[in-house]
Amino acid sequence: MSNADGPASLAGIGREGLAAELARLGAAPFRARQLWHWIYHRGATDFAAMTSLAKGFRDELAEAYTLSRPEVSRALVSADGTRKWLLRFGDGHEAEMVHIPEEDRGTLCVSSQVGCTLNCTFCHTGTQRLVRNLTVAEIVGQIMAARDALGEWPSPPEGRQLTNIVLMGMGEPLYNYDNVAAAMKIVMDPEGLAISRRKITLSTAGVVPMIARCGAEIGVNLAISLHAVTDELRDRLVPLNRKYPIAELLDACRTYPGSSNARRITFEYVMLKGVNDSPAEARELVRLLRGIPAKVNLIPFNPWPGSPYECSSDAAIAAFSDIVFAAGYSAPVRTPRGRDILAACGQLKSESVRARRAVAAPA
Ligand code: SAH
Repeated sequence: MSNADGPASLAGIGREGLAAELARLGAAPFRARQLWHWIYHRGATDFAAMTSLAKGFRDELAEAYTLSRPEVSRALVSADGTRKWLLRFGDGHEAEMVHIPEEDRGTLCVSSQVGCTLNCTFCHTGTQRLVRNLTVAEIVGQIMAARDALGEWPSPPEGRQLTNIVLMGMGEPLYNYDNVAAAMKIVMDPEGLAISRRKITLSTAGVVPMIARCGAEIGVNLAISLHAVTDELRDRLVPLNRKYPIAELLDACRTYPGSSNARRITFEYVMLKGVNDSPAEARELVRLLRGIPAKVNLIPFNPWPGSPYECSSDAAIAAFSDIVFAAGYSAPVRTPRGRDILAACGQLKSESVRARRAVAAPA
């Protein structure tokens, strides 16, 4: 927790870390639980507000620590209610966070790294030069900053705007596994932020050796950025495929701990005109997924300046979706959200069949 630039923040610390800091101050161990409640249930941003703690102790904490979160360097709201925040971390690096409100829930799309090393050819993040892992506190800090901005402290039991988390922002979460796992443990803690593992989805481009561990240790929902049905094409779109080809990736999915028909693995498939969007590829996708409790999310490609692809036509997306749907898989098309604010999260979607029909309907 030492920080050369000033006192460290306790916002984003884990239970063990908090206990260690309190021991350093010579405080009684039961204080950790009180402090945890103030930090993660009440969202306190000031030690002075922690009225169940003795005044002297609050002063001591305020001298040694802060409760600061990642700084919001830019906040944008789309006409459709989607919000995007650019967060600046202590070293000046920035990452994007997106909130997508829907009728019955609200999803926060969280980043796991600044930049990304995967260089998927359709993804804008891959063009950024700077890459580093986000720390545990920076990952948890995103959720806290969102709660701040949405005014959701203390954690409301019902009617929350932030009910779900998707690790689908910048970065490859399974390349920053330890920090992501520790952060999710804090986020899932029932005495704090209390977002259950069933409401958290981790999206990976397919870091095969980490998938089983992710399921066994964090137990979150899994999403796979598949995007192609042959190794030849996937090698080009998702270069990580050269290391972990489709067959190995799907084997890891088949044995993913906790997956079932009630808890399916999501396969993301970005629709690229003339590249991966033919009916034959839809049929091959269905064949590949056989035996895996799966659902498919078709994502209209979101172009960026200089991007080498175009989005498939509505008709091509509808035809693709119909084939997948007819094979018994839910195949929602993610309705582009937040396009006017250039939100880049993978989870810019809306609900299933209605969206599918809307796309299928003649213009
Ligand atoms: N590295 C992880 C998580 C980050 S990318 C992964 O690969 O899953 C999350 C999702 O963003 C990917 O599934 C991809 O479909 C989507 N994505 C990235 N760039 C996109 C673009 N330009 N248009 C549409 N979706 C995009």
